[in-house]
Formats: sequence, C-alpha cells, structure tokens
Amino acid sequence: MQLDPTTLIFLNVANLLAMSLALPLVMGQNLSPAARSARASLMINGVAWLALILAGFWREQWPDRLLSSVAMGLLSFSNWLLYRALNHWLGPRPLGRLLLVLVLATPLGYALSFGSYPVRVGWANLLIAGQLLILARATLLPMNREFSQGNWRFLMFGCVALMAVLTALRGILGAWFTELYPFFRAPTPVNLTALVAANVTLVLGNIAILAAWREEAQRQLRTLVVTDALTGLLNRNGWAEQADRALRYAQRHGYPLSLLMIDLDHFKRINDNHGHEAGDAALVFFGGLLRQCQRGGDVNARLGGEEFCVLLAHADTAAAQAFDQRLRAELAKAATQAIRFKLDFSAGHALCRDRHDTLESLMARADAALYGAKHAGRGHMVSAETPAG
Ligand code: GH3
Ligand code: MG
Ligand code: MG
Repeated sequence: MQLDPTTLIFLNVANLLAMSLALPLVMGQNLSPAARSARASLMINGVAWLALILAGFWREQWPDRLLSSVAMGLLSFSNWLLYRALNHWLGPRPLGRLLLVLVLATPLGYALSFGSYPVRVGWANLLIAGQLLILARATLLPMNREFSQGNWRFLMFGCVALMAVLTALRGILGAWFTELYPFFRAPTPVNLTALVAANVTLVLGNIAILAAWREEAQRQLRTLVVTDALTGLLNRNGWAEQADRALRYAQRHGYPLSLLMIDLDHFKRINDNHGHEAGDAALVFFGGLLRQCQRGGDVNARLGGEEFCVLLAHADTAAAQAFDQRLRAELAKAATQAIRFKLDFSAGHALCRDRHDTLESLMARADAALYGAKHAGRGHMVSAETPAG
C-alpha cells in the first residue's frame, strides 16, 4: 500500500470544509456560546489547512511565508476556540493564559524564523503540541461532575493527546533530524501517521463535539424542568427533589432542619391596585430577597402563585424565627424602593423532629401553621412546634 501525503492532506481539507459547511445546517442558528466556539474552531481549522495547501504552490518564497504563517495563526486560534468551548462545557479550565501565550507566539515565531526550516518547523510544531497538551488536560482535569458526566471528554482527550504526540514528533524530527522530515509533504513514517491520524481524529473529535453539545442541551432542558421561569428559583419539581435530599441528609447526620411555608399577604389586592405586571415584579423581587438571605445548604422555591418554601439547614425553631425576622426587615427596607409599594408575608414553620418526618409531613405541618398565621391577622410567622407562635 502506498500512502501519499498530498492526497491525505487534500482529504483532510475536503473533510474539514465539508463538515464546516454541514455543521451550520445541522446545528442551526440558535447555538450556545460553547457550540458556536466549537463550530468556529472547526471552520478556522479548515481554512488554516487550505492556506497550507495554497502555500505549497510557492515553496520557500514570500507567499509561502505569508500563507503558512497565517495558517499557523489560524490553527492556534482554532485551538483557542476549542479551549473556550471546553470552558463552557466543563467549567473553568486551567492554563488559559499559557495557552494564549502559545497561540500568539506560534505564528509570530514561525514568521520570524521562516528562513530556517529546522527552527520554524521545530518552533511551530512544538508550540502547537503544547497547545494540544493544554487542551488534552482541559478535557479531563479538573473533573467537575456538576458540569459534565459525558464520555465524550475521553474521546476528545484521545484525539487531542494523539495529535499532540504526533505533532511534537514532527517538531523534533524537523528541528533536529531534518532528513527524517525534510518538508511539509514528506512521505516519512511519522508524517504519514500524523496525516492519517489527523483524518481519523477529525471524525472522532467531531463526534465528541456533537455529544458535548447534546449533553449541554439536555442539561439546559433539565434546568428548565426544575426552575420557575419568573423568579429563577426552583419550582415544585426542583423543590421536591432538592428539599427531599436535604431532609434525608439532615436526618442521617442528625442536625435540625426547618421548613418555612411563605405566602404573600393580600396579593390579589396588589394585582388589582397596581396591575399584574407590578405583581410579577413583586414576585421577582421577593424571590431575589429569598436568595439573598439564603445560606449554603438552604433550599428556596416558588411552589406556585405567591407561595414560597424555604428549607433551612442547621436551623431549629429559634433560628427559623431569626430568619423570618431578617427576611421581614430586608423586605421592609427594600420593598418601597424596589417595587414602590409595601409587601408583607405570612409564614408557617415546621421543624424536622425525627427520622419518621417526610417532606410531605413537614409541609403539611408548615401549611397548617401558615393557615394559622393568616387567620391570626397575617404579617407574621407561626410555628407548628410552638403553637403559641
Ligand atoms: P392572602 O393574604 O389570604 O394570601 O390573600 P391573597 O390575595 O394573597 O390570596 P389569594 O390566594 O386570594 O390570591 C392570590 C393571588 O395571587 C391571586 C392571583 O391573581 C395572584 N397570583 C398568582 N400567581 C401570580 C403570578 O404569577 N403573577 C401575579 N402578578 N399574580 C399572581
Ligand atoms: Mg396563596
Ligand atoms: Mg397570599
């Protein structure tokens, strides 16, 4: 079998450009920033390879210098775009600054050292290999399960790491063993392997990108399912899930946990007097206030209408009362400024007593206490644990 570097390069460019044209059609217009970065990375990669092919028509002349330097810049930039996509998909990734330095230094050093084949080939390939190593690390570490649990990252790691090794080998041969890699399209074993790998990793890398994009879409959908669209707090679904988990955690570790059921007072009147939009703004404002008063481990939700629920971790009845007072004080302080009318609420409190309490039983007790608070004149909290309030 005779492998021909020119054909392999041509195939790679054809595949890259075909994917660059197909992806916008498949992915559509409304892309997430991550998917847009990944797609742009691929397109720019395609243009870079095209520039390299064109440069071959003027070997060692000034258009070669110009086009190959531009190609090095574009290849580096496409790596930077992929890194940005990984930042979105996997959470903040390390070594971004170093990558940026390499991205800028690669084309610059290449253009300046163009007169010397060993220097420019060693420089560009080793620096690009460095970029790819940073990308390889970024696909795996640090693991952040909150962001992604997909196996696509292992596929991406394999592709990027393989290309890093082969590119580094090309750089070493070009710089110190030039006879083993004397020019770009040389049919040497390392060059042929790198070109075949470029084709294979292009296909596999794209599968990884599409899988990452799909995982992101699923995550967004999942967030929508558990989020209240108006306030951004958890909705009833999200509440049931997270509050139940927090309750069982508290029961297992034996610390007190309080549940507050909150209902805004005379909210119908607010809508009637100020309009439904002002009512919505008041709900958003109150949601923000709940978030502001929240501590780590607490769970907030809007159960529906003008009803909210709060789970306070490590909080006995006294702590729940303190929270209620703090919330009231904040509300009194900020309401007239933020929404231009007074807002008040009634609250019912229940304390987790033992391992037999369930979320439903706690909510039922808090709801009964809330009913008591409404009947006793509104604007205060009643605890199911101290019937006197
Ligand atoms: P109470 O003090 O007894 O709780 O009186 P209330 O008027 O707050 O209670 P009621 O249950 O009679 O009315 C709740 C009102 O909340 C009626 C409804 O129009 C309003 N509401 C429910 N959801 C929304 C919403 O998403 N936006 C707005 N603006 N109003 C809402
Ligand atoms: Mg109500
Ligand atoms: Mg109400």
